Amino acid sequence: MVLSEITITKAIIDRFSRKFMECIDVDTAVVGAGPAGLVASYFLAKAGRKVAVFERKLSVGGGMWGGGMMFNEIVVQEEGKEILDLFGIGAREYEPGYYTADAIEAASTICSHAMKAGARIFNCMSVEDVMIREGRVIGLVITWSPVQMAGLHVDPLTVTAKNIVDATGHDTEVLAVIARKADIHLFTDTGKILGERSMWAEKAERLTLENTKRICPGVYVAGMSANAAFGGPRMGPIFGGMLLSGKRVAELIAAGR
Ligand SMILES: Cc1cc2nc3c(=O)[nH]c(=O)nc-3n(C[C@H](O)[C@H](O)[C@H](O)COP(=O)(O)OP(=O)(O)OC[C@H]3O[C@@H](n4cnc5c(N)ncnc54)[C@H](O)[C@@H]3O)c2cc1C
Repeated sequence: MVLSEITITKAIIDRFSRKFMECIDVDTAVVGAGPAGLVASYFLAKAGRKVAVFERKLSVGGGMWGGGMMFNEIVVQEEGKEILDLFGIGAREYEPGYYTADAIEAASTICSHAMKAGARIFNCMSVEDVMIREGRVIGLVITWSPVQMAGLHVDPLTVTAKNIVDATGHDTEVLAVIARKADIHLFTDTGKILGERSMWAEKAERLTLENTKRICPGVYVAGMSANAAFGGPRMGPIFGGMLLSGKRVAELIAAGR
């Protein structure tokens, strides 16, 4: 058989277009493929929801690949280990209550499970705006990340979703655009983004779960974005809260809460 470059090109364009077309109207759109977003997409897909994940970077995994300060090991506590166990990621006890796992194994395995469960991940796509109708966020405005990087004057496209998860980490990018452009009152003490506080691992791990919730009609926050939205502290390279937050947001969406 003689390989045809044209067939290769057609195969990529055709397959990608079909995949993308299937995801322009979804049950849940997750913004950010860090640990929280990936775990959320796994549990939602597993529950039969149609899930699309939009990730700005070429690679998925967010801040997980680099462990702490690029030492590529992550730490989880007892509760977080249950999620690693579920995915078959090797976790080794360091001291009672502290477990470590290889950051590369963790990121790649969680991503693989999310995809095999049925989540669709679109990398190199950035969410730059939202669509709002009657006080509810009903969709996302997306563009290719390289378009943003090059500052090109190119219009974006849109996707609609019944639920949106802001799992964009420290910058709460979906909420930031809502706060900037709409009069929507967020379900925080002030109605605005409260902003992340300084490092406090123990408190942050607990608050990450408590703060994982619906933040305005149509939008949930998970992972570091949840703490930044509700004024919780950062926690550094301990990842149990991120993993559990992904699971929690999926449970909330499944329960319609
Ligand atoms: C570059 C970087 C540096 C970090 N530095 C620290 C640190 O110094 N201290 C600390 O405590 N934690 C830091 N973190 C976060 C730390 O790794 C977290 O504890 C953990 O990774 C957070 O998990 P998460 O799933 O909430 O978000 P993240 O792991 O941060 O993942 C969020 C993902 O969302 C994507 N994203 C963001 N905005 C958009 C958008 N508009 N459209 C599409 N995708 C988007 C990002 O590319 C990223 O992949 C850092 C994370 C990153 C990505």
